[in-house]
Amino acid sequence: MLNLCYVGCMDAPLITIFVRHTPGCKYAGDEFSKRCNCRKHLRWSQGGKQYRKKAGTRSWTGAEEAKRRLDDQLAGRKPAVVEEGQALDAAIKTFIQDKKNQGITEKVIDKYERELDRLRDYCAAQCVYTVQGLTRELLTGYAATWDKHYPASLTRSKVRERLRSFLRYGYQAEWLTRIPQVSKVQVEQDPTMPLTEAEYAKLLDTCYATFADDRQKCARVHALLQLMRWSGLAIRDALTIQRSGIIHDDKKKLYRIVTSRQKTGTHVSVPIPADVAQELLTVLNGNPRYVFWSGNGLEESVTKNWAKYIAQLFDDAEIPKVCYMVSHRLRDTFAVDLLQKGVPKTKAFKRMRKAVTTGMRAGRRDASVKGIKPPILSLSVHRGR
Ligand SMILES: [Zn+2]
Repeated sequence: MLNLCYVGCMDAPLITIFVRHTPGCKYAGDEFSKRCNCRKHLRWSQGGKQYRKKAGTRSWTGAEEAKRRLDDQLAGRKPAVVEEGQALDAAIKTFIQDKKNQGITEKVIDKYERELDRLRDYCAAQCVYTVQGLTRELLTGYAATWDKHYPASLTRSKVRERLRSFLRYGYQAEWLTRIPQVSKVQVEQDPTMPLTEAEYAKLLDTCYATFADDRQKCARVHALLQLMRWSGLAIRDALTIQRSGIIHDDKKKLYRIVTSRQKTGTHVSVPIPADVAQELLTVLNGNPRYVFWSGNGLEESVTKNWAKYIAQLFDDAEIPKVCYMVSHRLRDTFAVDLLQKGVPKTKAFKRMRKAVTTGMRAGRRDASVKGIKPPILSLSVHRGR
């Protein structure tokens, strides 16, 4: 049910609706006839002066609407619409407070606020101001606006999840008698997703075909892939790895890759499988300092060249890629692998995330999609020098 009430109580002049009949109208004698289709007008007196105005309609109902609007205007009021039910605005505030009570991070709270603001605006445009007005039909229309705001299907599926969380709360608060359905979002295969085990195996295998003419290049690209996949290093950092960065940890009896990352100036120390370390040591290019790089020219140029080899490999193996994102798929593979193995969450987690930024974030994202609990990371990171 919808009642219109008004805020403010200033006295307004009395407005009268009247008809200006067209010549020949059979109701011409009746200025207030509701039976014909002639143009309606409004008149009123203010400050001892009489005013007339077109209602801009031929219907009596339309004229009443125009009269109400004019009435508000003359009285300097804004109409407030009050519906029976839980006001959406207040409901959103309560819900956000509940999320805050739960200690949800500020970043996520921001997302809730932004998205629910959008919901409220959409509802207002449909003249819906209550939680009870959130029908399945309305939400279908609302979800149809997401494409525009969130081009990635993965994002849309998250937005849907958060909306459902709000609706669930509305149900538990007994504002809603049931949780209305929200259109499902099909998450497309993201070309920046980590490689599957099968894809990675295929990629390695394809090396032999793609570089059949150049055994040395084959061995080195193979080793580079392995390094990236097992260390999570970006292609540039992998290519410029120093021989001294492959360290045998005698105490723990394992190999580590130790490097300083350019972007963050952070040292990364990652244990890698012994066979991968052995492979790296067999492809040494004879340079006293670097494993892959000659040390001459720009790091950028060598990165570009090798990125081409890897891109070709992805093509030959028929694995989807986004041109320059190739190496990310390898790094994400590394990150997800760690997450799936899991280790207790420690304080080091935060620091590590900073160091192994992109790959790790993507890994966590992917893990959460698959419902994998955030993990342990057997990475150690030393910041600064
Ligand atoms: Zn008439």
